[in-house]
Amino acid sequence: MPAATPALAKTTVPAAAPAARGQGAASVAQKALQKLGLRRDIDLALHLPLRYEDETRITPLANARDGQTVQIEATVTASEIQLRPRRQLLVQVEDDTGSCELRFFSFYPSHQKTLAVGARLRIRGEVKGGFWGRQMLHPAFRVAGGELPAALTPVYPTTAGLPQPYLRRAVVSALTRVDLSDTLPPGAEPPVARMYSLNGLQRRFSLREALTFLHHPTPDVALSTLEDHSHPAWQRLKAEELLAQQLSQQQSRRERDMLRAPVLRPRRSADGALPLHEQLLAVLPFDLTAAQRRVGEEIAADLARQVPMHRLLQGDVGSGKTVVSALAACLAMDAGWQCALMAPTEILAEQHFAKMIGWLEPLLAQRGRKVAWLVGGQKKKDRTAMLAMVASGEAALVVGTHAVIQEQVQFKNLALAIIDEQHRFGVAQRLALRQKLAAHGMEPHMLMMSATPIPRTLAMSYYADLDVSVIDELPPGRTPIVTKLIADSRKDEVIARIGAQVEAGRQVYWVCPLIEESEALDLSNATATHADLSEALPGCMVGLLHSRMPTAEKKAVMALFTSGQMGVLVSTTVIEVGVDVPNASLMVIEHAERFGLSQLHQLRGRVGRGAAASACVLLYATNDSGRVGETAKERLRAMAETNDGFEIARRDLEIRGPGEFLGARQSGDALLRFADLATDTHLLEWARELAPQMLDRYPELAAKHVARWLGGKSDYLKA
Ligand code: ADP
Ligand code: MG
Repeated sequence: MPAATPALAKTTVPAAAPAARGQGAASVAQKALQKLGLRRDIDLALHLPLRYEDETRITPLANARDGQTVQIEATVTASEIQLRPRRQLLVQVEDDTGSCELRFFSFYPSHQKTLAVGARLRIRGEVKGGFWGRQMLHPAFRVAGGELPAALTPVYPTTAGLPQPYLRRAVVSALTRVDLSDTLPPGAEPPVARMYSLNGLQRRFSLREALTFLHHPTPDVALSTLEDHSHPAWQRLKAEELLAQQLSQQQSRRERDMLRAPVLRPRRSADGALPLHEQLLAVLPFDLTAAQRRVGEEIAADLARQVPMHRLLQGDVGSGKTVVSALAACLAMDAGWQCALMAPTEILAEQHFAKMIGWLEPLLAQRGRKVAWLVGGQKKKDRTAMLAMVASGEAALVVGTHAVIQEQVQFKNLALAIIDEQHRFGVAQRLALRQKLAAHGMEPHMLMMSATPIPRTLAMSYYADLDVSVIDELPPGRTPIVTKLIADSRKDEVIARIGAQVEAGRQVYWVCPLIEESEALDLSNATATHADLSEALPGCMVGLLHSRMPTAEKKAVMALFTSGQMGVLVSTTVIEVGVDVPNASLMVIEHAERFGLSQLHQLRGRVGRGAAASACVLLYATNDSGRVGETAKERLRAMAETNDGFEIARRDLEIRGPGEFLGARQSGDALLRFADLATDTHLLEWARELAPQMLDRYPELAAKHVARWLGGKSDYLKA
């Protein structure tokens, strides 16, 4: 048995702990447990320590080094309250090897009593100073004696009203009750290092052994392997967690396969006219790239099935996802069904609308159908008219924002929902879309698009229930964007360069970090930048776009920029997604160090959309000594080194974790608490392979495993 006996010995009560622990404190603690989500015994069992304290040994004072946290046993030789410079309790203690001064700035009469001269105490704290005067500030203490625990003492993540000793007891008692019987099928061992067990046989940790060990490890453990979660007990937990996630995702995919969706196949109309998608291809001013054709076929194959498609279309910024989605829409509309196209912002939706109108309106008109437009701030009259078109089916395509999924929006027959920048949409919204064809006893197909390339491990885990298509090729004729890192002390040179671009008939974006935070964090204010640039560039129209502006104003500004009248657009990150102005050739990003890499890549993707050589300038703030933090610069350097969104996403995953990519999918609940997708790929692969076999052959074990690990959370994974 590799695991130690739990440290049931009384833990050291910190000096500041409340003396009375009556009913009141207990119910406060109960509430705090709930708040931490620690409801079931298994939740407590899986609530793992942040770190450990070693109370298994007593250190002689002579051996305690400056800065070391130690436990000592010593006798009080003096105790007095000093009033200057501040009221404080000073206590001298001594063991056989040396002495130490304890200092308390807050203390109660009961503490003084325990710390009376002659008392023998067990004391734990950080030692300052050395031989000539050791000191501990606010150490924990209690009367000496009692057995030393055999295991390290866990320190748990906690919250106000939930003292460590209470939480420790709650975990110990949960561990005695909880069912931790193995849910892995026979023979399914995770790829985790073996440990020696007592009888000399090599074996791996079971779940119970792993948890017992991690709550109360033996003092001989290498603490670093607990900290970086590389210890085999941690590995076991991570493997189990990933398996739960895979089971849940693959299960929801199987459930979806039982559902029905409209079968959408291209067909020639009765009068022999070409199918809609072929007509669209004929009017496009360009040929599709090979990658666009390939993913188009993948989508068409899905739509021809009677099972709802849930496909994620990934492609770097500017790879041409929009036209692929329009072609998919054609397949739906041609068969007499409706299609919805949603974007996270009104500006982006409007741009899609304009594009779709340009491409499709004439073709749809021949069929007596239209494109409808639905956004939040619409005039009542317009909205009513649009809703009527959607309900009657006259609108073959509905373009808009979140407004498209509101309850009042009744589709006649929605067959395909396309979501652009899908990570900006929440679970609830995707679920709402799936309800829109309920009257027909079916679900619509879903095509989700993302310009933030999702690293492979993320796609394999969080998106395991989706099919993924990747456009891995940019349309021809694009010149690569040159990216430069420039210290913001050289802003003037950058402004001069802007002047030259504008002179040459090009357009420029200047991005500032969010305006809301600007005052507090001393970020440059978009408004001030706008004023500066206007002054520095006489004769050039400089516009301002920020998130607090009324929509009408935003639109007016965008229209001026799109039409080319406006030379420079100063903006907060509202332009982050999707904006397409091919004549823009320079992107300046101020305080680039405050953005994530993927976000920078998105922003950079706003230029380089035409044939002109384009550049992206990352301005970074320098501190007084003229340097930006080394990690920040290292990070930014990645931007200059590569234009490959996947490579950037991979680095971002390493640096910032999955939050950046997942957006609303988790709604605050990090579903992977233990596993780290940047390092645990082999465990993920194991789980991915095992999950389908388990669902087929051991459905009860699979259900038990998911319930144990995910409880009520698995629904989040299903949208
Ligand atoms: P994204 O994938 O970032 O949404 P868009 O769909 O906005 O990219 O496409 C970027 C630009 O490239 C648009 O102006 C679009 O019309 C154009 N485009 C798309 N496909 C091609 C192609 N095969 N050849 C040339 N230009 C294309
Ligand atoms: Mg786009």
